Amino acid sequence: MSASLSSRSTASVWHPCTQMKRHETQPPLALVRGSGAWLYDEAGKGYLDGLSSWWVNLFGHANPRINAAVKAQLDTLEHVMLAGCTHAPVVELSERLAALTGHALGHCFYASDGSSAVEIALKMSAHYWRNSGQPLKRDFACLAQSYHGETLGALGVTDVPLFRQAYDGLLRPAHIVASPDARAARPGESARDVAARAAETLRQLFEAKADTIAALIVEPLVQCAAGMAMHDAQYLQDIRRLCDQYHVHLIADEIAVGCGRTGTFFACEQAGNGGGEGERMWPDFLCLSKGISGGYLPLSLVMTTPNVYQAFYDDGINRAFLHSHSYTGNPLACRAALACLDIFEEDDVLNANRVRATRLSILLGPVAAHPQVRHFRQQGMIWAFDVTVEDPAHAATFSRRFHALALESGLMLRPIGKTVYLMPPYILNDHEQTLLAEGVQSALAEALRT
Ligand SMILES: *Cc1c(COP(=O)(O)O)cnc(C)c1O
Repeated sequence: MSASLSSRSTASVWHPCTQMKRHETQPPLALVRGSGAWLYDEAGKGYLDGLSSWWVNLFGHANPRINAAVKAQLDTLEHVMLAGCTHAPVVELSERLAALTGHALGHCFYASDGSSAVEIALKMSAHYWRNSGQPLKRDFACLAQSYHGETLGALGVTDVPLFRQAYDGLLRPAHIVASPDARAARPGESARDVAARAAETLRQLFEAKADTIAALIVEPLVQCAAGMAMHDAQYLQDIRRLCDQYHVHLIADEIAVGCGRTGTFFACEQAGNGGGEGERMWPDFLCLSKGISGGYLPLSLVMTTPNVYQAFYDDGINRAFLHSHSYTGNPLACRAALACLDIFEEDDVLNANRVRATRLSILLGPVAAHPQVRHFRQQGMIWAFDVTVEDPAHAATFSRRFHALALESGLMLRPIGKTVYLMPPYILNDHEQTLLAEGVQSALAEALRT
């Protein structure tokens, strides 16, 4: 008998974000195909993809409409360099995304993964200030418990000790300001109060150091990797105002929260007091990746303003943004992204998700009411709650046990520490929602019992 795919994998593939030794007792799940919200293993067992394959999949696996678009592009033009050349998919995608911001962010710069998009936004910001005669503005500010990726620049604005400790000596320190995480509310405080308090710490930083700060980077509405820490939308307005006042760029990392995940296409659209178009707040840079290609192909981009673009527009090459990646603007990935934008329009996805989210929230009622569940929260197509486990040894293994129990019952879910979250694709039917809610409830009961 030949060795299983899992054991061949651990012998040759070094898996991401994994202590490989743990695979001795829990081998990686070998998947052979996907269809809709489901992934299937070699034995044909199905797993409901409750975390959209690390937050990238929007419209299910092997989606016929995206497949058709990618196949047609494959037979037309699979790839060409984007320096000195261009092609229809990248042009159409840029035009359509710019239009979604009312052309406030009318220029799109491409890369292949989220971390690279963050690197680009950071470099572009500092380079903008250099081109504008303020070369000392080259530091960055980020929020406590922020996550912006794992390359050195992105890790420098990431405040997750587990990910950065080993590399601290390699990183350029950033200013870390208070997170507006609503869970930090003191007795009697609202989420908005926490946001106001967090904004005040930012104001103090800017007051002292704005002369040397190029940009503040935030993940609007939900700090996902921190364990789905949610905050009041007022925070975004507050920081936009402070960034304007102190001449600091605002970078919105919408790599996870963009593409409809929080209920609007861009999370930033929810800043403002429900006012009209004119009151929308836009960042100076907006990073997209993950969901933009529907979870099909690596694609990321940074959208920016005419003002930033103009600061690089010149006769000399030194003022240009000389950054590139080999697969920048890959036509197949752009075509997948365009197919996703079509689905958003044709299926009125944002409204359909509102109905879906209301229903799934009701189904999760018993979970929210569990005596060991705290801070049950929801934003768009993200649900999360924290579990209290008294025994430290039990608490330390909660995430792994919950993951294993959920898998057994055919659900793919990976808690972050003691935070369980759901980030399903935007296609769950009523039956799948019920399966998901009931599966979470029973895995939770089991994980807390054993
Ligand atoms: C995933 C993620 C990144 C990094 O994207 P990669 O494609 O994994 O490099 C950056 N920021 C946020 C908010 C993310 O969720």
